Amino acid sequence: MKKQEKLRAAGKLTVMAGPMFAGKTTKLLTLFSILSKLNYSILCFKAESRKVSGMGHTNSHDERPLPVIYISMDEPEKILQYVGRDGIQKVIIDAVHFFPKARILKVIDALLSAGIDVWVNGLIFDYRKEEFGATRELFRRADEAMELFSVCVRCGSKAEHTERISGGLEQSLGTTGTRKAQYIPVCAKCHRVYSG
Ligand SMILES: [Zn+2]
Repeated sequence: MKKQEKLRAAGKLTVMAGPMFAGKTTKLLTLFSILSKLNYSILCFKAESRKVSGMGHTNSHDERPLPVIYISMDEPEKILQYVGRDGIQKVIIDAVHFFPKARILKVIDALLSAGIDVWVNGLIFDYRKEEFGATRELFRRADEAMELFSVCVRCGSKAEHTERISGGLEQSLGTTGTRKAQYIPVCAKCHRVYSG
């Protein structure tokens, strides 16, 4: 069944997953710059917890700017509007975990069926170590899946989790804007669930 789905999809899906501070955005930025130099028609989207969509740029953790179209996390279908209008060949989606699972899976299926290659990154786990959005499902379906990790700030071993250390209790809280949270990378053993 899975194989048939893949055969039907003309575009290729590449997924980078891991905790925060693992270099996911930096990887996408590098890819974006290479694809642009090769003259591919490419759009980069970023899921936003703010209710605003539009053009802008984002910074990777090493502060290099990345031109991006912000998409409010409750409007993933807007990606299809941008792509349809411009005849895009390749699409990048940063922070895919913020979008509602079923809806972003549909959007990505539509892109792949249209022959568009899709690169996404996202957190597999939220700050409670629970599944975050569609990342894990996309990781399973990917033609290429890369797991990135960071270093646990408590014990120095491989960190595959993100711990919230300030902010509210909602699942989706970014690190900027008025409603923001702070995070650290930790391993499964050292992880503590933030309780406010
Ligand atoms: Zn640890």
